[in-house]
Amino acid sequence: MVEYGLLIDQSLCMACRGCQVSCKQWNERQAIVTTNVGTYQNPQDLSWQTWTFMRFSEYEEPGGKVRWLFRRELCRHCENPGCLAACPVPNAIVRDQGGMVIVNRNLCGDCNRECFYGCPWGVPRFPGTNNEAWKCWMCRDRLYEGKPSACSSACPVQATRTLEKSVLLATAYERLSIVKQKHPRANIYPPTGYGSNVVWILVDSPEHYDFSFPTTSVSSEGAKPAAKGFLSEAARPMLAATALTAGIAAAAKFLDRREKVARAEAK
Ligand code: SF4
Ligand code: SF4
Ligand code: SF4
Repeated sequence: MVEYGLLIDQSLCMACRGCQVSCKQWNERQAIVTTNVGTYQNPQDLSWQTWTFMRFSEYEEPGGKVRWLFRRELCRHCENPGCLAACPVPNAIVRDQGGMVIVNRNLCGDCNRECFYGCPWGVPRFPGTNNEAWKCWMCRDRLYEGKPSACSSACPVQATRTLEKSVLLATAYERLSIVKQKHPRANIYPPTGYGSNVVWILVDSPEHYDFSFPTTSVSSEGAKPAAKGFLSEAARPMLAATALTAGIAAAAKFLDRREKVARAEAK
């Protein structure tokens, strides 16, 4: 089984947000009302409707030179996902053989948003007071059809690429050696030792990109709701059986949509 990953090269990226838009289009995420807070960053954060966005940051070097940086934000598809480890419902989050960490929404929705707190970056998000988690699924449907993710496909400069995991890091380091000639502080993130199927090439230190770990105040959508009971052990097998039927219906919906998009692209 081939495992996949994404390589995001911030030295090539121009923050056009094509990835952001194509993610919404392919995954049927709605546009949301946003507020301009005086920076290029818009929206401000991930949400259940926004699975990737561009983070912008500025900082002043000791000599007074201002540096302007941006990078994509999305799920890392970790090798040992904190979201999965924290989830109390068996199979509500799975890491499949292709390396994608996926929320099974037929099973998810009945805990205290444990995946949000288990994820070092607070990636899973929730609609209103609903406890169903939503996040990037690495366009699993596209990858298994031999296509790159929607965000990779839309990127006009190949700053985001879908690659087989076996060549992901080697490709990143090969590219880094070129990037370093212009950006001596460039490096690979996450750092060595953190297993992730999404790898960034940053042109500056991670702390200047706001790569810090989030706290419980990441966003209102991440706020912990009033306590709600976990699913009882007895209820889980029943739910799993119902989920199989619901899963087939959900898959049919995806196929309908894929055909619709394919027809539109063919015109
Ligand atoms: S589409 Fe490519 S260049 Fe545009 S913001 Fe996304 S990664 Fe950057
Ligand atoms: S980045 Fe967070 S949500 Fe994504 S796989 Fe890792 S722990 Fe889970
Ligand atoms: S891999 Fe797919 S779901 Fe994830 S950010 Fe890219 S387009 Fe969105």
